[in-house]
Amino acid sequence: MGISDLMSAAEKAYQVAQKLRDAELNEVIADLRLKAAELKADMAELRAENAELRESIEEMRRQADIRAKVAFDGHVYWAEDAIEGYGKGPFCPTCLDGDARLVNLVGPGKSVPVSGSGVFRLPNGTLWMCHRCAKSRGA
Ligand SMILES: [Zn+2]
Repeated sequence: MGISDLMSAAEKAYQVAQKLRDAELNEVIADLRLKAAELKADMAELRAENAELRESIEEMRRQADIRAKVAFDGHVYWAEDAIEGYGKGPFCPTCLDGDARLVNLVGPGKSVPVSGSGVFRLPNGTLWMCHRCAKSRGA
């Protein structure tokens, strides 16, 4: 029995009570209808909350999945096997650790147009830049 069945049963009870012209019964059934309507509203709220939670779980699974595919080398993240749409990296540690976003670094280069956050120097001397980090600090 769903909430719609409960609502229509309450409506039928209300119609019967109207015919009987019993004031007390009418009051009880009016209260029942009100409570059924409140229950319906609560259920809609719970459904929305449930959908949000499912979305959060899906996002966490996606992040855990990405985390399981990359390794930190002390400077940046790399994937042992290419990640669809991203390749093997390197990936920005700031974006992955801070916002759980996988962002490809651009490079390698010997010089970059910006310095500071968003720029990563690897042990081989190459520089890699994260466009997202560089953008977010207004460079
Ligand atoms: Zn970044």
